[in-house]
Amino acid sequence: MRIARSIQKLTPYTPGEQPKDSHVVKLNTNENPYPPSPRVAQTLSAFDLDKLRRYPDPVFAELRAKLASIHGTTPDRIFIGNGSDEVLTLAARVFVDDGEAIGAFDPSYSLYKTLAAIRNVPFVPTPLAGDFTWSEPECIGEAADTTVPVALFLLTNPNAPTSISHPQDKIASFARKFPGVVLIDEAYADFADGNCVSLATAAENPNVVVMRTLSKSFSLAGLRLGYCIGPVDLIDALYKAKDSYNIDALAQALALAALDDLPWMTGNTKKVRATRTRIAGELRRRGWDVPDSQTNFLFARPPSNNAADIFEDLRTRHIYVRYFPGPRTGERLRITIGTDAEMDEFLSAIDSLA
Ligand code: PMP
Repeated sequence: MRIARSIQKLTPYTPGEQPKDSHVVKLNTNENPYPPSPRVAQTLSAFDLDKLRRYPDPVFAELRAKLASIHGTTPDRIFIGNGSDEVLTLAARVFVDDGEAIGAFDPSYSLYKTLAAIRNVPFVPTPLAGDFTWSEPECIGEAADTTVPVALFLLTNPNAPTSISHPQDKIASFARKFPGVVLIDEAYADFADGNCVSLATAAENPNVVVMRTLSKSFSLAGLRLGYCIGPVDLIDALYKAKDSYNIDALAQALALAALDDLPWMTGNTKKVRATRTRIAGELRRRGWDVPDSQTNFLFARPPSNNAADIFEDLRTRHIYVRYFPGPRTGERLRITIGTDAEMDEFLSAIDSLA
């Protein structure tokens, strides 16, 4: 059997564990602990099954119009993917030529490196400073230790797994200088104080795309719906390369229902933010180093410097957090913000381990 060399040597992306046991405290994949809007349930129970007999709208006109109105832009600037991971896969295909590279910060979303490997182009990481802030170089593609031009920079903001936000003016000035496409992955922006959507709709930024997902703030990770906003020519290019029917009819209907109820989403993000503040304080009081999170998770270093052991100990108690081995990430645990009750269980477990 013939398998492409790039795939033979590929280390696949490892998603967070999805334990089958329902009696677990699951703080490992940044899911929302609260349910989606009741309008999603209503739409699901009223869904006309005859719609499944037919193919769905390949260009999801209604959903695009809804997203355009939410973001104060036009539907021709909106592309929708089967989860934002699909948008990333397409971006790697559409914005990068053979002989070019994909760049991102290090640490950042670990899928990016895998996407470059699947696309069979080099991945150029730009290390963040010790405190995970973005120091120099301003122009990442030029400063990188490579002769291959970086055609696509995947800029997670707020960043994952570090949880912190990069300043918007810094992103804007970087984008102005960067010769390729800057895709700002805003998976967690609804939990943050600000966002970069205005950069993607401004005429002076022909190379900026902002990406969102319904997986986190809208509590719909199982639905698989992500989207991006950007200049019309870049958006058109994504449409050219997508599968004909990448968003199924049910997902289109349920996403529309969720987007019709923004107050439900913002109510949930408010609760998550309040719990985030409380738990960050509790961990700091116990000597943990916890950067100021703008996301629905904390990236925390225990005072005993034994993150890997704590991860395993918590797991045996059916409390799942995320651990990324490696020189810097391996010092920390990524802890998704759950309900207050779940977080209290997490804290008691931490205390009993101490
Ligand atoms: N970007 C970032 C930074 C993420 O953490 C995730 C979730 N793992 C995604 C994108 C993908 O989200 P989804 O495919 O569920 O929209």
